Amino acid sequence: IMFKTEKVLHLKSSRGGKVRVVREHYVRERVSCGCAVCEAGCDRDGKLLSGDVTHYVVPDAVVVRDFLEVLEFRELQGIVFTQTACQAAHHARGRRHYNRLRGLLKDPRHDCVLFANEFQQYSYCPREKGETQEKWHTRCVYHAAVWYYNHLAGLKPVVMITEDQDAVKEYSSLNSGVYVISTREYLETFWPDLQAAQELYTSISQALQERESEATEKEYTEHLPAEVLEAGIKSGRYIQGTLSVNKHRAQHEAFVRFEGSSSKNADLNSDILISGGKLRNRAIHGDLVAVELLPRGEWKGRTTALTEEQGEEKTGEDAQSQPMPSGRVVGILQRNWRDYVVTFPPREELQSQSRNSQKILAVPWDYRIPKIRISTQQAEALQDHRVIVRVDSWDSTSLYPNGHTVRVLGKAGELETEIQTILIENSIHVPAFSEAQLREMPVNSADQPWQMDGAEVSSRRDLRDTHLVFSIDPLGCEDVDDTLSVQTLPGGKRLELGVHIADVTHFVKEGSLTDLEARSRATTYYLADRRYDMLPTVLSADLCSLLGGVDRYAMSVLWELDAESLEVCKVWYGRTLIRSSYQLHYELAQSLLNGEEAEVPELAQLESSEQGQKLAELLQALETLTRMARHLRAQRDKGGALELEGVEVRAQLDEDKNIAALVPKQPLEVHETVAECMIYANHWVARKIQESFPHQALLRHHPPPRQEFFNQLIDCAKTRGFTIDTRSNKTLADSLDHAVDPLDPLVNRLMRVMATQAMSNALYFSTGSCPEEQYYHYGLALDRYTHFTSPIRRYADIIVHRLLMAAIQSEKQEGLHKTLASNKELEELAHQINNKNRAAQHAQKQSVELFQCLYFRDKDPLTDERCVADAVIYTIRANGMLVFIPRYGLKGAVYLKNREGQVVSVRDDGSCEWQVGTLQRYPDRISTSTSRGTHTFHLFDHVTVRISVEPSRCHSDAVHLELINNKPHQAVRSGEAQPAGRGQSELVREVVRREEEASLQAEEQKSRRPKLSREEREFRQSRTPNLYSLLQEISELALLDLSVCHPPTAEPQTCTTSA
Ligand SMILES: [Zn+2]
Repeated sequence: IMFKTEKVLHLKSSRGGKVRVVREHYVRERVSCGCAVCEAGCDRDGKLLSGDVTHYVVPDAVVVRDFLEVLEFRELQGIVFTQTACQAAHHARGRRHYNRLRGLLKDPRHDCVLFANEFQQYSYCPREKGETQEKWHTRCVYHAAVWYYNHLAGLKPVVMITEDQDAVKEYSSLNSGVYVISTREYLETFWPDLQAAQELYTSISQALQERESEATEKEYTEHLPAEVLEAGIKSGRYIQGTLSVNKHRAQHEAFVRFEGSSSKNADLNSDILISGGKLRNRAIHGDLVAVELLPRGEWKGRTTALTEEQGEEKTGEDAQSQPMPSGRVVGILQRNWRDYVVTFPPREELQSQSRNSQKILAVPWDYRIPKIRISTQQAEALQDHRVIVRVDSWDSTSLYPNGHTVRVLGKAGELETEIQTILIENSIHVPAFSEAQLREMPVNSADQPWQMDGAEVSSRRDLRDTHLVFSIDPLGCEDVDDTLSVQTLPGGKRLELGVHIADVTHFVKEGSLTDLEARSRATTYYLADRRYDMLPTVLSADLCSLLGGVDRYAMSVLWELDAESLEVCKVWYGRTLIRSSYQLHYELAQSLLNGEEAEVPELAQLESSEQGQKLAELLQALETLTRMARHLRAQRDKGGALELEGVEVRAQLDEDKNIAALVPKQPLEVHETVAECMIYANHWVARKIQESFPHQALLRHHPPPRQEFFNQLIDCAKTRGFTIDTRSNKTLADSLDHAVDPLDPLVNRLMRVMATQAMSNALYFSTGSCPEEQYYHYGLALDRYTHFTSPIRRYADIIVHRLLMAAIQSEKQEGLHKTLASNKELEELAHQINNKNRAAQHAQKQSVELFQCLYFRDKDPLTDERCVADAVIYTIRANGMLVFIPRYGLKGAVYLKNREGQVVSVRDDGSCEWQVGTLQRYPDRISTSTSRGTHTFHLFDHVTVRISVEPSRCHSDAVHLELINNKPHQAVRSGEAQPAGRGQSELVREVVRREEEASLQAEEQKSRRPKLSREEREFRQSRTPNLYSLLQEISELALLDLSVCHPPTAEPQTCTTSA
């Protein structure tokens, strides 16, 4: 039954006037309360408030508007959001805020519900004459709270929180059973231990008070209203795109990357330069903005010079390139603000700054973010700390954006603080798994060992007695998520290859808390010294680890191949039971293949005849596997698969967390064999799910690179007499293979680096949102590809496992058990996962740089031999060059011209000094001329550099390189400093690296268990690194998207040292 009433609204018109609107409003008696404890027979659909709380809390509209962040603490439970409060917050703060609120309401990890109080007959109250909107809202919320209390028959106390002191007085005295208190009092009384929430509350309310006393003089042009922007974009007058700030010239140079192609600007295929702060008009890096082009006469060029970090450098005219389309920001379509880590100004500066106001200017860690104005009384106490802040607003009257502090991270310069900073800066949230999540996990303990379920056993194909299953992993690896099998089928005409992957989706049900957490993490995060798992340890290191000699659930792909031609005759996909017979490590497998003497631990106890027979069986399996992998690889090679190089090297740490020298091991063929089988499985699963769900399958593609990005590579190769043909991946792969300098293997390696950097990222996508000809994976030379083989550490694989099961079920005509995600939902998810992967790569890279700085920080560059190293020039810039230091896997800028305008001059013995002179740049070389003569540095020349650390108070420290000799560096002790695996695929080197790490950790655990246990608890949510990040990321070119960390440019290379 519904009742009609009237609702009077006062809306602001676009001209600023007020309009009174009367709407029909329907109320009803039954509106669900959404409580688990309800005894009044409400609907029990959807999310329910936990009954396991001491009270329910109902925030007033202003609290929801201004302090939503505080309500976002997961510790706060039993929150009832009223419709009144939500609508008011939406109205006042806009869509973004509202979406955040909706996200909270949907997320089962937050104990809160929406109560539609305005539809409830008894809690709805119309506005009274003369009543202000705020008072009315507060009254509505109060009535809702009273209704709640009565509806639950007093089972739970109800607390209403408000910022309105009059309301506290007025309603508290009504004695309705509902407590009405201020937000501050609520936090102090009910959550005395939740210090962080109280601090955040204080910080936000300070920021709010400050804003009321703002000046009114305009610093910036007003943004245009949304309707005007929308119309302007449609008509082509304005251009829509994402603002990207050049981190090396953050105050002066930003670009708007063009999104979509509006017909009017079809000829405009470059980025748009936004020069200076006024034209940037309060847009912050990452915001979606609308831009108006400036007249041609006002266009400027981008800077091509290497720049000193903070951007205070002067730019000569020679450093500017051709004028390019330039524009100004006329409006912001979407703010993409995140949490920022900042440092407060030093004491001296603080005093001069705060003379006039309570506000201080905090400097963000990220160079691209402007200083943020914050009101705090803690500025002095937090001098040397890193602090998280959020930006609240940036009005046209304020030179800087206004924000408030959220949390103190710790002292700057300390490892933990810096690591946390890197995580926050990449928007990576990896809290400890919650109790509720862990309660979803199966138990496997000594007194309660996990057992297979009878029904599961009978529904799966049992391979335990029929298939010889084994795993090959790095030594000491504990989490095995893939295994292999291979056998000759009866009759001898056919072979069967099997890839068996941990059946993670059996344990992680869709929509469960574990699933949601894994989905929001999207991946396991690997940093230089630690990792944060996507799934709890009981899965990743135990029940989903396909260990030897134990029964496990698996998802399998089995191929029947022609024994001669290795053509695929039949493929079977499905859920299986396996028991791995051998847990091999790479060296052991390779030794067996090489016919060397090797002891297989699983066979040690057997009698010699049986041992010999089993060994022969295993060896035959390994040999067949190798033959198949060679065949598969050859097929892909024919299609144009690329082997590329990256130069990221992960820091390996000794006991004191110093980087231990790289001790290379021989790369082994068996690494590639395993990788090839995984690629094959991923490919075939991609085919299967795409055929079954042509519009809603999750695949991974690698778009072909834009030809102009190869120009640098082509030019560089030419200087050494090589021709690089970039017309296709096949020609590129072939010409790279031929571009080998027998005297210097680094030449080939650096060219592969350039090729890599010319390419874009491999990305996940939904099949419905991309034409079929764009499914192609350029790097792997496969027409379809996805991720299936590592569900423990990648959420994409979890989705793919579910899709594969759905495909199998629909085929069996069982009908789909559940509805699949729509194309749109899947595409959004793919987008989210791509972003998280990029964040993971950045965080990893930054943590490596952190460790490099930590390594060099305590060494004296003038006396320590380790600070002097050989470097190879790989890019020429206007005032210097970029070099690669093989010994440390480090890239950086070397300047040939200093701030005083002096240039590097070379003495007879090759040593360098600064002298007055000039600089001349050519495509393949750069020359300095001084009174001593002219000295030229060519691409691929080896020089000697000195490495030191440039400390930074507000940002990360940076490695600084100084040219000290124009000759190659001769290491004092030979051998040790030489890099390994030159010209090898990065995949192989990556395996080697992980392998070392795994054994290092295994050793570490044996010897130093107790010492590490705190960290292990905290960071290494499971113990050994997982093999898989090596397999796909590199071999499939999940390359770092350089466009994100560097200014967009037609030459994708930029300086990375000072990064
Ligand atoms: Zn109810």
